[in-house]
Amino acid sequence: GVLSLGWTSRCLKDQDREYVGFATLPNQVHRKTLKKGFALLSYDILLRYFKDWGESGLGKSTLIKSLFLTDLYKDRKVPSAQERINQTVGIIKHTIGIEEKGIKLRLTIIDTPGFGDAINNTRCWQQVDDYIDQQFEQYFRDESGLNRRNIQDNRVHCCLYFISPFSHGLRPLDVECMKALHEKVNIVPVLAKADSLTRAEVCRKKMKIREQIKQFGINIYQFPECDSDEDEDLKKQDQTLKDSIPFAVIGSNVQMEGKGRRFRGRVYPWGVVEVEDPAHSDFLLLRNMLVRTHMQDLKEVTQETHYENYRAECIHKMTQMVVQDRKLRFSSKDEELRRMQEVLERIQEQMQHSQRGGC
Ligand code: GDP
Repeated sequence: GVLSLGWTSRCLKDQDREYVGFATLPNQVHRKTLKKGFALLSYDILLRYFKDWGESGLGKSTLIKSLFLTDLYKDRKVPSAQERINQTVGIIKHTIGIEEKGIKLRLTIIDTPGFGDAINNTRCWQQVDDYIDQQFEQYFRDESGLNRRNIQDNRVHCCLYFISPFSHGLRPLDVECMKALHEKVNIVPVLAKADSLTRAEVCRKKMKIREQIKQFGINIYQFPECDSDEDEDLKKQDQTLKDSIPFAVIGSNVQMEGKGRRFRGRVYPWGVVEVEDPAHSDFLLLRNMLVRTHMQDLKEVTQETHYENYRAECIHKMTQMVVQDRKLRFSSKDEELRRMQEVLERIQEQMQHSQRGGC
């Protein structure tokens, strides 16, 4: 089903706020791939989030709802403590259709509940790793098949990695997980529940995380370089984006009214935080990046780097298998020849023997 966001009935100001913004995709495609034709409007986002043992979550579902104005988790059942102990990592896929200005987008959110929750987290990313590979494999098969025109692209284009605001930067498990996945998927790190930190703390944590990313050789998604002939505003936006990693986000699904407009926010005894206010969080930057400005590039990097790597490895493995198979067949043929030779020699010997005996 396609979910209409209903901007037509709203005034212009609200319209902008209640609007995800992927209708700019034709422009993104146009700017990047003038003559390549039109891209498939499907987009898969994988959510990785780290939950501490006993912690109630990092606001992943809240953020997704705020980002895409849709509730993916209406029927979610919060697991009890016992269920959580027994929980194994499972993959839940939510597909939503959204339509804006006549452009339809199929968005898949792949959720990894319980990730990092178990007592033994050894290779807890394995299932996610397998999931990404399975999508590549399916695409590889479809691409090698007869009907290549209508391939459904289920490859994962982006992985939002939630970092806890309560830890001192990245934890060893975060490093391990990101490194296990960074050659396969575009990782976009986010600093969750940023409202629990002061402005200075956000700054320090971001710096520390960026340093750790470099120090541990984690290849997160790299924003493409801005062309030198682009206008200054765009260059500035681009730099802001690069400097904001990891995006400090705040999620809320509570609609509020004030100063003549509606907004999503969180109320505290000391004031109100506005999710979409750039002074309060990087929420808007992240959303714009995901759907307005970089959706096409995320798809292209998936195709040209991650999928190509997978494909090359697949072909290499297949070639090796063929060579081995041939070797095996040849060596078995040699063996067969040798045995036939032996049989022949024995027959000859017998013949000679009987000839001699007959004389
Ligand atoms: P999930 O388990 O990661 O999907 O987390 P949820 O979205 O269910 O959020 C868990 C709790 O954190 C809920 O009580 C939310 O209201 C709260 N929460 C979600 N986002 C934020 C945020 O940005 N800041 C704060 N302070 N709390 C949040």
